[in-house]
Amino acid sequence: MADLTTTLIHHPYQPPAGFAAPQPGVFKASTVFFPNVAAMRHFDWKDKSAYTYGLHGTPTTYTLEERLCTLEGGVQCLLVPSGLAAIATVALALLRSGDEVLIPDNAYGPSKALAEGELAHWGITHRYFDPMDPADLAAKISPKTRLVWLEAAGSVTLEFPDLCAQVRICKAAGVLCALDNTWGAGLAFKPFDLVPGEQPVLGVDVSIHALTKYPSGGGDVLMGSVITQDERLHMRLKLCHMRLGLAVGANDAESVLRGLPSMALRYRQHDETTRALAQWCAQRSEFAQVLHPALPQSPGHARWQALCGDAPGAAAGLVSVVFKTAYGQDQVDAFCDSLQLFKIGYSWGGPMSLVMPYQLETMRSSWPVHLQPGILVRFSIGLESAADLQADLLQALARLK
Ligand SMILES: *Cc1c(COP(=O)(O)O)cnc(C)c1O
Repeated sequence: MADLTTTLIHHPYQPPAGFAAPQPGVFKASTVFFPNVAAMRHFDWKDKSAYTYGLHGTPTTYTLEERLCTLEGGVQCLLVPSGLAAIATVALALLRSGDEVLIPDNAYGPSKALAEGELAHWGITHRYFDPMDPADLAAKISPKTRLVWLEAAGSVTLEFPDLCAQVRICKAAGVLCALDNTWGAGLAFKPFDLVPGEQPVLGVDVSIHALTKYPSGGGDVLMGSVITQDERLHMRLKLCHMRLGLAVGANDAESVLRGLPSMALRYRQHDETTRALAQWCAQRSEFAQVLHPALPQSPGHARWQALCGDAPGAAAGLVSVVFKTAYGQDQVDAFCDSLQLFKIGYSWGGPMSLVMPYQLETMRSSWPVHLQPGILVRFSIGLESAADLQADLLQALARLK
């Protein structure tokens, strides 16, 4: 009879198999056991029909990967610790010294910072293209171009590009294109099948997603995914992902698995409330411009309508306003500070509404022609009632006078 210390470590009890419940199990492991040495030698860490080490996957992460593939219409998925890590993984896997990456000028800011920092230090050059002019993208593709980033709608300014034209340009040039699909989230449009029915199928090569936003839905998890449809491309990404030692924690994976079943309903509700508030903002005299793809006057509206349709659930929960130039930074800051339900904070996709002022002139190569001058404020609309949020905006606008 072994010592109790040993027995508590090597306990013989095995629970019965066949447990079934709404949520999948949460498996936590660095070490994974092999039945014998031969099996250990035989196992390939890339083979998802088995387990080799916590870093390479558990039943929990495999399950999340499969569900995310279904969400976005992809075939293979890698999980990483944040949305930004997903962007960085794609860059590190696919770019070499001497290569060039093209990035839309309205891209997620830290994606530009990665290009200007690490990528530049490693001899990888970048150029920014006009997201609203496919001809500018076509003109900037050169023999050095190895990767084109796409984003729809644009971060902060929410212009909607001609995504189909952009993907066609990349395909014609034989350059890989990667989409930051955080806004569309797999719900507003299908990144791997942009024009249903079109043959050959038109889609991006890689879709990254900040699961931090809608899939989590709680404002309490950081995670990202890298989804593909091509096994060889996936393997290039997967080898890099493994060698960098990227993995996600089981409890974080569990949180995202809990968020997914309600995601489409939440997304649709965020969309409905946001559209109502965007329309209300468009009637107000304080704003020079309201940026939301469903507003006819918002840049790229027709392109959004063509790609996403305009049914509920075709747009995310973001709207930006440009204050008239009569309002200075102090007044706009006071407006943000006066909001009660809207909290001041980054990110989006959670239940609470957020507000953030931006200095666009520091974020763009030049002031975009389609944007009015003025201070820009972005709202991330949560799941509160539209009437309460509107009342909050109204009382804060009253402080501007
Ligand atoms: C938030 C966000 C990211 C990064 O996600 P994190 O998990 O916060 O690193 C990337 N792209 C877009 C468009 C985002 O909004």
